[in-house]
Amino acid sequence: MKKFCDSHPTRKAHWHCSKCNAQFCPECVVQRESESYGRRKTFHFCAKCNQEVDWVGVENLIEPFWSRMPRIFAYPISAASVILMAVLALVTMFFSGPGLFSTLMKGAMWLIVIKYSFESLKATASGNLKAPPVNSQTISEDFGLVFKQFGIYIAIFVAFWWIGAKVGPLIGIVFLLGALFFVPAMIILLVTTGSLINALNPVMFVGLTFRIGWAYLLMYFFLFLLGSAPAYLFQFLIKFLPGELHLLLYGFAESFYTIVSYHLMGYVILQYHDRIGYQVNFEDFEDPNAEDYKPQEVDPDADVLREVVPLIQEGKLDEAISIIQKMTIHQGIKGINLSERYYTLLKMQKRQGDLLEHAVSHLDKLTDKKQKNKALAVFSECRKMEPDFRPAADALFKLAGWLNESGKTQAAVSLYNLLVKSYPQHPMVPKAYFRIAQLFHDGLMKTDKAKKILSALQMKYPEHEIIPHVENFLARI
Ligand SMILES: [Zn+2]
Ligand SMILES: [Zn+2]
Repeated sequence: MKKFCDSHPTRKAHWHCSKCNAQFCPECVVQRESESYGRRKTFHFCAKCNQEVDWVGVENLIEPFWSRMPRIFAYPISAASVILMAVLALVTMFFSGPGLFSTLMKGAMWLIVIKYSFESLKATASGNLKAPPVNSQTISEDFGLVFKQFGIYIAIFVAFWWIGAKVGPLIGIVFLLGALFFVPAMIILLVTTGSLINALNPVMFVGLTFRIGWAYLLMYFFLFLLGSAPAYLFQFLIKFLPGELHLLLYGFAESFYTIVSYHLMGYVILQYHDRIGYQVNFEDFEDPNAEDYKPQEVDPDADVLREVVPLIQEGKLDEAISIIQKMTIHQGIKGINLSERYYTLLKMQKRQGDLLEHAVSHLDKLTDKKQKNKALAVFSECRKMEPDFRPAADALFKLAGWLNESGKTQAAVSLYNLLVKSYPQHPMVPKAYFRIAQLFHDGLMKTDKAKKILSALQMKYPEHEIIPHVENFLARI
């Protein structure tokens, strides 16, 4: 029985409260982030009793692979992987001729397909059901597992050759068919343990096959179909298309089915992770097909943060500052996380000039995200350093509103005044005047002044959308 969210009966529950037995989907659970030593960690709490909740586990969130085959099949249909497969097919076609260099190029393309497939398998096994991005890490770095997989095939064919020579060719072929049957189990062991010795250990791979049970047979059947699909496709479809396309389409189909096959093996690891003894963490789980799926946000400055966070941890703050400046010189700082780090670094290193310059865009981001207290703190810090410090008009408008909310009416009025004086042409100006009048009347008991401002507004902006409000207000006071 699957568990469902208490408030959303059609959404699977991801979290369970052991105290009050409540169940929550990702939208309903209470999330809190805490940061220590530059690492952000998310904690989840019960929305009813505030107890920390437990993850229900992946079993509740995924369906068995046999009822997911169409989606498993559609796995490589993402912009990045389709482009990758197309480019690889093109290069393979271009180097289809004989010769050492062409052979090397074809081999390299094939290695990239296998490498990307392995990455797909690993991501799937850990719970991420979205095809991996295409980058140096997924297609060109660390071929350890890929070569170990070749180790499996080499070991099987050496044994086959030896048995064929010593015992007889028929026994050799029986051995070969048997060994090939266990290859998926060997690959699963290779990924989950990282060890070729474990993968080739009959106790381990036979044991694993039996633990998965009849589903292993089913998976093998699907893998067999996927393996022979490109040939069938050629037989029934590609053959009838123009000759120039044959190699291209065949190459594309081969990459496609290879990626799907590895994804399927990864999915079997995920589905049977308990029996296989493989840990799946909630942080890794991501299913783009789920009803309540929201893509995990990637920090827009992730590449910069990756460089900078270790430097900060090592205490190399000046170095961190210059890396940020260098890496954001063209596009600027995009997200709030990097912006905040940069601000803190500049403050710690007392780089006043840089800090005041950065504070303007930092305040834009803070006010945009409605981070009231942080924004007010940054503003007052900067004003202390430089009494003439001026945020942008929109930020000023929000800051003034928050100051008023926290009871600082006089300070709010002077911020609206600052906006009006610093940006006289800005579209926010009439609204700022109106707010000043309201504050004069409501907070500061200066109704005369308020009236004066309102009449001036009517004179100066007779067509503005705010005028009806102005008239209303005037009639009231
Ligand atoms: Zn609870
Ligand atoms: Zn819910």
